[in-house]
Amino acid sequence: MTKFKIDSSDPLSSTTIKADSKSHISIKNRALCLKCENKPCTYFCPSRVYSWENNAIHINYKRCIECGACPFGCPSENIYWQFPRGEFGVCYKK
Ligand code: SF4
Ligand code: SF4
Repeated sequence: MTKFKIDSSDPLSSTTIKADSKSHISIKNRALCLKCENKPCTYFCPSRVYSWENNAIHINYKRCIECGACPFGCPSENIYWQFPRGEFGVCYKK
């Protein structure tokens, strides 16, 4: 019987991101975030783009791997997300 080796490498280790100078993500209404319970954007994003610091949401857009969860994950539909401009963004092949 053939033995298969379990691949324990990081599945995103070959991923590269060419970040634009301008963010492709923004918050529509920051006042809504103040009232948002549990701030789900800080944990639904697999790349930890969002963080809650000094009473505000911070967006580290350069980490975005374009999974597409943003428009669905925010309960208030308060995130404006679009693909990065051409030639920028994530590349899943080396
Ligand atoms: S989930 Fe939406 S409303 Fe809540 S903190 Fe994040 S962006 Fe703001
Ligand atoms: S598209 Fe995915 S990786 Fe990018 S910010 Fe939204 S949840 Fe995070």
